[in-house]
Amino acid sequence: MKADCLFCKLYREGDHVAATDGFVAIRDINPQAPVHLLVIPERHIDTFRDIGEFPADEAKRMLEFVADVAAGAGLKDYRVVVNVGPSAGQTVFHLHWHVMGGWS
Ligand code: 5GP
Ligand code: ZN
Repeated sequence: MKADCLFCKLYREGDHVAATDGFVAIRDINPQAPVHLLVIPERHIDTFRDIGEFPADEAKRMLEFVADVAAGAGLKDYRVVVNVGPSAGQTVFHLHWHVMGGWS
């Protein structure tokens, strides 16, 4: 946990729409799609660039949770996005997965 990190805080205290051991999903505060969720791992890494710091089983479980969150939200077709670095649109420096869908 990083003391001054918004998503470390939301992992602990957020309004979770789904959760499993080590991962939660929350609603994006500024949705860019009819359904826009964020999957946040408990393990803090600043960006996807550091994904090598995740144990393999944890990385696999994280991806499975992304798929479960989308299914749980009733999405069949959807977009999964990770912004990596400021010029790619990253604003929160704790790895997270955007799950966007619901366009019908
Ligand atoms: P990024 O731009 O880093 O890829 O994504 C960060 C996302 O977090 C943005 O889509 C932004 O709307 C969302 N966000 C920022 N602050 C908060 C917050 O306090 N609560 C929630 N639920 N989402 C947030
Ligand atoms: Zn964090």
